[in-house]
Amino acid sequence: MEQLHFITKLLDIKDPNIQFMDIINKDTHKEIIAKLDYDAPSCPECGSQMKKYDFQKPSKIPYLETTGMPTRMLLKKRRFKCYHCSKMAVAETSLVKKNHQIPRIINQKITQKLIEKTSMTDIAHQLSISTSTVIRKLNDFQFKHDFSRLPEIMFWDVETVRGVTVLLQHLSRVRVQIMNQFDRKSHEYKPIKRYWKLIKQDSRKLSHNFVCT
Ligand SMILES: [Zn+2]
Repeated sequence: MEQLHFITKLLDIKDPNIQFMDIINKDTHKEIIAKLDYDAPSCPECGSQMKKYDFQKPSKIPYLETTGMPTRMLLKKRRFKCYHCSKMAVAETSLVKKNHQIPRIINQKITQKLIEKTSMTDIAHQLSISTSTVIRKLNDFQFKHDFSRLPEIMFWDVETVRGVTVLLQHLSRVRVQIMNQFDRKSHEYKPIKRYWKLIKQDSRKLSHNFVCT
C-alpha cells in the first residue's frame, strides 16, 4: 500500500526500518500495526555475522493522538541470532530509546506539558500513559549531564522549580478535594480553607497549637 508511505510522514516517524502494515480503527483508539526489520548486524558478543531469526511479539507503544483519538503502535521487532555463539539480539529503532517503551516524541510532549504546568494526572490522561511515566520524566530532568557547567546548574534549578510547582498544584487540588468533603460550616472545613499555606510548610516546623488556633 503506497498510502502507508504518507502515513509515515504524517506521523513523523523517521526510522526507515519501520514498515507500516495497517491501521485499525477501534471504538476507543487507533492501532498502527508496524514492523521493524533490517539486515542482520554482526554479533555484539563474538563479532560473527548474525542471521535474521523471528519477530518478537508486538510491543505496545503509546503514540500521539491522531484525528483526536488515542493511538498506539503495535510494533513487531525483528530478532537476530548468532549461530556461532547463540547470542540473540532485537532490532533497535530511533523511535524509542533502547530498553524504553515510550517514543521520544511522547517524551518531548510530556516535557512540553510539564513546562506548560499541566498537572501530571492530566498529562497521563491526555497522552494515554501512566502517571509514573510522567513522574519518571520529571525525575529525568534532575539528572541531565549533557549541559556544560553553568547552563547545567540553571537547567537543573529551573526544572526543579517546575517540578515543585507541579507537585504543589497537585497538593492544592488534593486539599480542595478533601475540603469539599466537609460541610462549609464544619470545624474541619474552615481550617483547611483558611490555613492553605500550611501545605507548603516543612512538617517538622509545625506545631499542633498553631493548627488549632
Ligand atoms: Zn556471536
